[in-house]
Amino acid sequence: MQHLLNNIKEPIVCAACLDEFSRGLSDASSLRGYLRMDVGFTDAGLQVWCQRHEANICVIDFEGARPEADFRSLIKKSDTTQDAE
Ligand SMILES: [Zn+2]
Repeated sequence: MQHLLNNIKEPIVCAACLDEFSRGLSDASSLRGYLRMDVGFTDAGLQVWCQRHEANICVIDFEGARPEADFRSLIKKSDTTQDAE
């Protein structure tokens, strides 16, 4: 189950969002809070899209392969609330 934890070593970010955040042009307290991205499958593979700039961030072409994907998540649950962040 270790692979279901956050193992991200190099986040994929929008260069324009990074630039705006770095120059203090947002009131967001973190870059993570500033980014607004769509991630999804395309005919060729996977795409990361910036909602703020309506622009491509990254395209990964699977070149016909079908890599394994695990859509399970480890969401912590309490007695009264469910934290979905
Ligand atoms: Zn952006």
